Amino acid sequence: MSDSRVDNPTLWCDICHVHVPLDEAEEDRTCPGCGEPLAERRKYPWHFKLMGIGTVLYLGYRAYQGISWLVHHL
Ligand SMILES: [Zn+2]
Repeated sequence: MSDSRVDNPTLWCDICHVHVPLDEAEEDRTCPGCGEPLAERRKYPWHFKLMGIGTVLYLGYRAYQGISWLVHHL
């Protein structure tokens, strides 16, 4: 597997909350969607991963709660 993405950083739009690959951004590094300046950001910051894990755990816990509620009320 090639790892060419390492050399292809993405930019972040705070307005649209999207990652824009450098080669898809406008020449002046503005967002193709809204025209606001883009910020340089790593593709998956650690807190993004942490938030994803937290969301999965939370949803799993809620699903468990929902299932056990059903079991006790049927
Ligand atoms: Zn934008």
